[in-house]
Amino acid sequence: MDTPGQDILEVNKLHTNFLGRHGIVKAVNGVSFSLKAGEVLAIVGESGSGKSVTCLSVMRLHQPHTSRITGEIYLDGENIMDKTERQMQKIRGNRISMIFQEPMTSLNPVYTIGRQLMEPLRMHRKLSRRKAYEESLEILKQVGIYPPKQRMAEYPHQLSGGMRQRIMIAMSLCCNPEVLIADEPTTALDVTIQAQIMDLMRQLTDQFNTAIILITHDLGLARELAQRVLVMYNGVVVEEGELKKMFSDPLHPYTEGLLNSIPRLDQKKKRLSIIPGNVPGPFVELKGCRFHPRCRYCQPLCRETEPELIEIAEDRRAACHFPLGQGGINTAEKGVKR
Ligand code: SF4
Repeated sequence: MDTPGQDILEVNKLHTNFLGRHGIVKAVNGVSFSLKAGEVLAIVGESGSGKSVTCLSVMRLHQPHTSRITGEIYLDGENIMDKTERQMQKIRGNRISMIFQEPMTSLNPVYTIGRQLMEPLRMHRKLSRRKAYEESLEILKQVGIYPPKQRMAEYPHQLSGGMRQRIMIAMSLCCNPEVLIADEPTTALDVTIQAQIMDLMRQLTDQFNTAIILITHDLGLARELAQRVLVMYNGVVVEEGELKKMFSDPLHPYTEGLLNSIPRLDQKKKRLSIIPGNVPGPFVELKGCRFHPRCRYCQPLCRETEPELIEIAEDRRAACHFPLGQGGINTAEKGVKR
């Protein structure tokens, strides 16, 4: 088990391009972040912001003949970008696991739950059939699936959506991974089941010190679980920092827009705001700040020069020429009307 607080994953200048019939799509552009053992990092942003592509790139799960991934990805100090596909297969599921929004697409419908749970135990941990069976029963109990013996013999379609998501978490637990990537894990579930899945993920970090990357468009969900947040827009990180500070004092206008669009019990508001416009399409290459067509604080400089992600306050970074809030530049000096 890794020591809490130690960097378990470090991603430096990650770029992911897709090569299509209509040209190159630059889906992820220079994304960097790190993750400590036992920490939960939420990656938030609208659809098309590059959240899922970033995490699939960390897993090196894109098709090699249609994509190109560059940068450095260190897992416990070791650069996994140098690994062959065979070596990556051992890392996936064993050291980094991923759970998806719709577990039915990840579970094999023609195999029993037992077989799907036992397979990684036999393959990665080389357990005997009997040991793998016993361990699978234990793991099912840990994720609250009862009666475990009966569930082992069932097929995915015989279980509810919440149970299937628990099974996915159980499968990812089999090898006690250092990093768990959860891509919109509760979107397809109702609220009470959502809360149970969140509790389960919290237990993982407490008991096993698993580091979690939570990909979500739901800032409310991020607030439930994460300590740190990475806000992505159009393939780049626009803000990063501690979650509580970001909620009370966002630095980037896009983060502010996201926060204003969710209901908050601590604020009395008649209507929620929306961010005008959409995330630019995959083939649109904007000059200057990628958010400028939607930003109400846009200035001439924003249309010309792309802002870099820089440290604005202690442990807080933003990519904006005129960051908001207490940690930001004195906007009055810049002549910005807010
Ligand atoms: Fe808005 Fe300019 Fe900041 Fe971009 S750089 S977010 S356009 S203020």
